[in-house]
Amino acid sequence: MKAFTVAVIAGDGIGPEVIEAAIPILDRVAAKHSFAIRWERLPYSAAHYLKTKETLPDAAFRRLQNDVDAIFLGALGDPRVPGNEHARDILLGLRFKLDLYVNFRPVELLHPDLTPLRNPGSIDFVIFRENTEGQYLGRGRSSGDEHVAEEVNTGKGVERIIRAAFEWAKAHGKTRVTMSDKSNAIPTHRIWQDKFRAIAREYAELTAEHRYVDALALELVREPQRFQVIVTNNLYGDILSDLGAGLVGGLGTAASANLHPGRRHALFEPVHGSAPAIAGKGVANPVAAVLTGGLMFEHLGYPAASADLKQAVRTVLASRTRTPDLGGEARTTAVARALADLV
Ligand code: ATP
Repeated sequence: MKAFTVAVIAGDGIGPEVIEAAIPILDRVAAKHSFAIRWERLPYSAAHYLKTKETLPDAAFRRLQNDVDAIFLGALGDPRVPGNEHARDILLGLRFKLDLYVNFRPVELLHPDLTPLRNPGSIDFVIFRENTEGQYLGRGRSSGDEHVAEEVNTGKGVERIIRAAFEWAKAHGKTRVTMSDKSNAIPTHRIWQDKFRAIAREYAELTAEHRYVDALALELVREPQRFQVIVTNNLYGDILSDLGAGLVGGLGTAASANLHPGRRHALFEPVHGSAPAIAGKGVANPVAAVLTGGLMFEHLGYPAASADLKQAVRTVLASRTRTPDLGGEARTTAVARALADLV
């Protein structure tokens, strides 16, 4: 049986709760599809940082770089580390150093009553968020009363994320790609316009359209059904994917993958953070972590295993075994058990 090694960084807050709930479900689906996962649990977290002053040691980074098939991460963030140094080193560090330039965030309505919209129809789009540039490089300066944040958009960076979005659209039978920027107010965003126009010409079979990010936010609420693939920069992708999550049930169900197409390196994490307010209470929704595991299985070459997970989630949500964030009363373990029974 084929076996993969997956490094687990469960992290902080609800991270360990949702990851440990998801793992047995993922094991069952893997077994059904004739593969296995060797989970390798790593201790890096706020607690570890507070105890040892260590965020992600070099040797651990090298192992993640060279010796594992994927990284499965829960959440990082803890009120005891207000500067979030460990999260910056671990999550942003892995995204940047492994050059995981695609943050892939699907938005899909898995049960009609999970949306606050009146006539939702079928909401099913993905966001390609640029993951290695923009304002997240932390460049700029702070002195006295002046704080300047720089936003980096390179030709290479913009081109490769746009191309990844078109490639994915083509491979998945989509017909439209929407690029979003704010080039009417931020002159440097013209690079997004230029690259998008040039790359779109190579994909004549796909409709290429543009929306300023403010207009897109409005349209996503009014008519989310018309979008299929959205490609945008790091900051706008971060914000629009929370908006997207809000359209389909909230952060408790939103999955994400950090990828470098064509390479083995990949990191999978729910969109949500460590949610300290509900940590330790046993009520965190494990669905985002389970669907994130599905994205990992797709990356490892098992899309049917991912489809099984999604179908189990649909069934459980319809049965109303839901955690409180979705209006239910079920605990994390009850939702996980229901999912495991189905797969
Ligand atoms: P970050 O800055 O890392 O995004 P945050 O604290 O701003 O973190 P989250 O930790 O993602 O945001 O959570 C915001 C709120 O959403 C939480 O307080 C919680 O109420 C809800 N939430 C997020 N994830 C879950 C989940 N898996 N299950 C239930 N509720 C969740």
